[in-house]
Amino acid sequence: MKFNTKALHSGSPNDPQTGAVTFPIYQTSTYGQSTPGKPNRFLDRELNYGRGENPTRTALEQSLAALEDAKHALAFSSGLAGVAAMMNTLKAGDHVVACQDLYGGCYRMFSKVYANLGIEYTFVDATDLDSVRSAFRDNTVLLWLESPSNPLINITDIREACKIAQSRNAKTLVDNTFATPYLQRPLALGADIVLHSTTKYINGHADVLGGALITNDEELYRSLKFVQNACGFVPGPQDCFLISRGLRTLGLRMERHCANAKLLAEWLSSHAKVSKVFYPGLESHPGHKLAAEQMNDFGAMLSFELSGGADSARVFLENLKVFTLAESLGAIQSLANHPASMTHASMEPEVRHSVGISDGLIRLSVGIEDVEDLIADLTTALEKV
Ligand SMILES: *Cc1c(COP(=O)(O)O)cnc(C)c1O
Repeated sequence: MKFNTKALHSGSPNDPQTGAVTFPIYQTSTYGQSTPGKPNRFLDRELNYGRGENPTRTALEQSLAALEDAKHALAFSSGLAGVAAMMNTLKAGDHVVACQDLYGGCYRMFSKVYANLGIEYTFVDATDLDSVRSAFRDNTVLLWLESPSNPLINITDIREACKIAQSRNAKTLVDNTFATPYLQRPLALGADIVLHSTTKYINGHADVLGGALITNDEELYRSLKFVQNACGFVPGPQDCFLISRGLRTLGLRMERHCANAKLLAEWLSSHAKVSKVFYPGLESHPGHKLAAEQMNDFGAMLSFELSGGADSARVFLENLKVFTLAESLGAIQSLANHPASMTHASMEPEVRHSVGISDGLIRLSVGIEDVEDLIADLTTALEKV
């Protein structure tokens, strides 16, 4: 089956008991048993308690696995709950090599939570495979990649980076939030685990938080499923329902997102007040060729800098009307963000500057509005600068 068909028909789209064409919300915390220790089975799962199993969650997990062409998916209460679940499969003394311009919340969790519990981290420029290779140590168990990355939209060679990890007996996780499975399937490129903040494109409607970990590795799946229940990082059934509904239209939305972003990136790069545009669809982007090979299209996230720097960025952001100045991304409505003071404020300024996130950087999550209105909005805000 092709992508859009899978998005519509995977993961129990119909309720097998009633034929309802939309799978219902099982709003329950527990399940009755007819005799002690013999729970009911449904969708191949034993129904003991809501933290362990919920059919609405199982249906979502089956859809998420199908979209990444994987055997297993686990849903979490947020993207970061999925990250924490992954970290909870490690132990003190383990070492993780992570790309340096990663999601600010992941950086915060690694450096301020799990580093205190004895997990060691080295942050590297993952677009440079030699840096990745030389960061490995004997205790390295995990390579953490994000491509395209946040907020500089860097592209890492996932296939080659996974080979480095394999040669050192480490697993590779790819945060595929920016690309979505519509544009990129890291498991096919050699990754062991895919992470999504389903809060973003997969749900797509800016009305729920969620996360997912997706894998073909049976042992990893079992340990992650254990953590999901043992630590209680589970999403509620209503959130699962909304994410299942959102992902049915992922393909259609991504097509429009990408088409709009490409036009905006080209328009911005020819604007006199714009000094730099970061978008892999532009031939000038250092990762352009690689993105064309490992992705089906270039995505809808782009960043740029104004010649006037941080002060101009503030004036520009205050004058947007169609774009909402807000954290988050991947919603149908266009969002603008100032990484230095918003999504990446938890990164120390020295670290932020050393990885190239300037105080004037602006990140856009291009929505599915009519592109003429988006260009008109940018034009007016740039006139005020
Ligand atoms: C948002 C985001 C996360 C964290 O997800 P939440 O749902 O906000 O907890 C992780 N990685 C990336 C790339 C993100 O954009």
